[in-house]
Amino acid sequence: MGGSRTSSGDRACDFDVIVVGAGFAGLYMIHKLRQMGMSVRAYEAADDVGGVWYWNRYPGARCDVESMQYSYGFSEELQQEWNWTERFAQQPEILAYIQHVADRFELRSAIQFKTRVEAASFDEPTASWTVTTDRGDRVTAPFLVMASGSLSTARLPDICGIEDFGGRFYHTGQWPAHKIDFSGRRVGVVGTGSSGVQAIPMIAREAEHVYVFQRTPNFVIPARNRPLDDEGQRKWKDRYPEHRARAKQVGTFYEFSDRSAMDVSEDERRAEYDRRWAEGGVNFVHSFKDIYLNEESNKTAADYVRERIRSIVNDPEVAEKLCPKDHPLGTKRICVGSDYYETYNRDNVTLIDLRSEPIDRILSGGVRTAAAVYAIDTLVFATGYDALTGALTAIDIRGRDGVALKDKWEHGPQNYLGLMTAGFPNMFIITGPGSPSVLVNMIVGIEQHVEWIADCIQHLRASGFDTIEAARTAEQDWVRHVNEEADKTLFPRANSWYIGANVPGKPRVFLPYTAGIGRYRKTCEDVAAAGYRGFVLG
Ligand code: FAD
Repeated sequence: MGGSRTSSGDRACDFDVIVVGAGFAGLYMIHKLRQMGMSVRAYEAADDVGGVWYWNRYPGARCDVESMQYSYGFSEELQQEWNWTERFAQQPEILAYIQHVADRFELRSAIQFKTRVEAASFDEPTASWTVTTDRGDRVTAPFLVMASGSLSTARLPDICGIEDFGGRFYHTGQWPAHKIDFSGRRVGVVGTGSSGVQAIPMIAREAEHVYVFQRTPNFVIPARNRPLDDEGQRKWKDRYPEHRARAKQVGTFYEFSDRSAMDVSEDERRAEYDRRWAEGGVNFVHSFKDIYLNEESNKTAADYVRERIRSIVNDPEVAEKLCPKDHPLGTKRICVGSDYYETYNRDNVTLIDLRSEPIDRILSGGVRTAAAVYAIDTLVFATGYDALTGALTAIDIRGRDGVALKDKWEHGPQNYLGLMTAGFPNMFIITGPGSPSVLVNMIVGIEQHVEWIADCIQHLRASGFDTIEAARTAEQDWVRHVNEEADKTLFPRANSWYIGANVPGKPRVFLPYTAGIGRYRKTCEDVAAAGYRGFVLG
């Protein structure tokens, strides 16, 4: 299934660039490279475009960045013509948007669907990558772009007896395309992170009974979702250039504060939290400038949410179980929900605290904990992902001297700017570890990476270089810098997927870059302007 032969320097390859993945990142990469006149082949495991928004069709799946911001900014026509219907878009609407983008820019012809990339190896004599797939493809290109996603490798927990379960069984990140009818069903939901928080209230409305198996309670801020009116949307669109320029510096724009939570009176602090709680969304976390930095400040916000939980949930014992107490607010991904805490007031919902009654094993007709057996006919795992590195290490990627990426990253991901890793020339990673990635509006992060990579390839072509590779010293310095920045924040205090804590055996390294997209962008631009400082061009 190769394409036309293409020539780069003295290399004869099937394509100029091979892209892995056709979510937001892969699609924009294809578009950008084609605009540069390059031949591209993309491989996508799914049977259509969309990435996360193709796979996550669970009830309640929606974005927690506002729709007007969670969209591409690269095309003025696109952003003017597309209309969003809600403040926070639901999965079907985001998927429809991505499909529209694929059609509008004629991107599908570059993509081979239902094809999983299994291996990629760098050939030194020809300075090119050979990629092989589960459908027997074997293709070559000088450049390889990993747009394989930060949250695309769904994880099941290691619970004894999963294979014995005789009922229906789903993972939120691999949800079937058809509607699942929960009526009359006794459903067990395992996991109370972002996906569980979105799915549980929806499932509870239909099911006979829902048993929620919770290991760690998370902080859930109400979404206060609402329809978008034409007038508001029009105003936003009129100012899109200005808004997008700002997003480049801050990712998502919230109402950022320049005050410390410690600098105001208790009444003022409370008024601020009340106002933001009423308004809904992640804006709450930005009530004060030091929520992520100062433990005392953070505690004031965390106490506020705990107080809210206790006032919403009728049963004080259940409320206490729902109160997060083992991590500062925001250091595990903050959840945005609709009727989440209210759902625990329903008669058909039972919360099972796995800290006090751990799951012993899954049985054919239910779940046995240390305290009881729960009869269940449907299990929903909202247990997350092998985040940031999982999709990369799932592929047998080999660089110079046949070194496997998996081995190189055994003790944590080593890379420079999150974009490239030494020993793997011409392989770029989009929103991987070491970049702001999942800590910012990811479309802003994706666009920045795609544009930097495109400019880099253009620079190589214009200046007659065949390869670019991260220098080991630059890589070591970057990894140290990423860790130092994380240590200035409260993030490493939580056992989160940001630090690999959800995957047994995964090295505990803080994965995303915490210093913000604006600073990161500036560093990437400075590096390029200085002739790709820290990279070796050959
Ligand atoms: P993905 O969308 O993950 O696409 C990667 C694609 O690569 C997938 O389709 C996958 O099938 C494919 N792939 C992977 N490996 C291979 C292989 N070996 N061979 C072939 N194909 C492969 N971000 C935000 O900024 N705001 C939000 O509110 C938000 N909400 C989210 C909610 C959920 C439920 C989830 C899971 C994520 C959310 N995200 C959010 C993060 C989301 O990952 C990004 O916003 C964005 O969709 C990532 O796009 P991507 O193209 O980088 O990766």
